[in-house]
Amino acid sequence: MESELFTIALGLQPPWEVVGVRFDPDVGQIELEVGFGKGARFACPACGAAEQPVHDTRARRWRHLSFFQYRAYIEAKVPRVNCGGCGKTAQVAVPWARPESGFTALMEALAMTLCREMPVRKVAQLFGVSDGAVWRVVDHQVEKARSQEDFSEVRVVGMDETACRGVSTT
Ligand SMILES: [Zn+2]
Repeated sequence: MESELFTIALGLQPPWEVVGVRFDPDVGQIELEVGFGKGARFACPACGAAEQPVHDTRARRWRHLSFFQYRAYIEAKVPRVNCGGCGKTAQVAVPWARPESGFTALMEALAMTLCREMPVRKVAQLFGVSDGAVWRVVDHQVEKARSQEDFSEVRVVGMDETACRGVSTT
């Protein structure tokens, strides 16, 4: 019941679903374990071939938006597919985070929003993470915006060592 509610709250689609919830009020955190159904197949992230069987999995953990004062984490065993198309063994993309990030996409969005208004150090303190963790998000998102040369929505107008500021043009 609880798992179903969190599956809906996270907007997960099959085969992904919340399979366990660990709430530890003393530590001040909640951990959501996300899994996928037995026999699930995934598209190859390298060539896009659909319906590839799971080769193995790697345990990973992401910081998610806090629920009130409780820090939230998503944990999942992320599958790698052994692709019958291109022959590569590659980790599939998860719908809640970009590859290589330790934050969920929603957490990154919140970090970027806060960084427009306050120093990165302050955001890091709020999240209870290192400055570097927040900077990695900022650097990636700024780099992405530059590489796409799409400044129609957000324009970073100034950055210094403590803060980034953007202005919305919409
Ligand atoms: Zn492939």
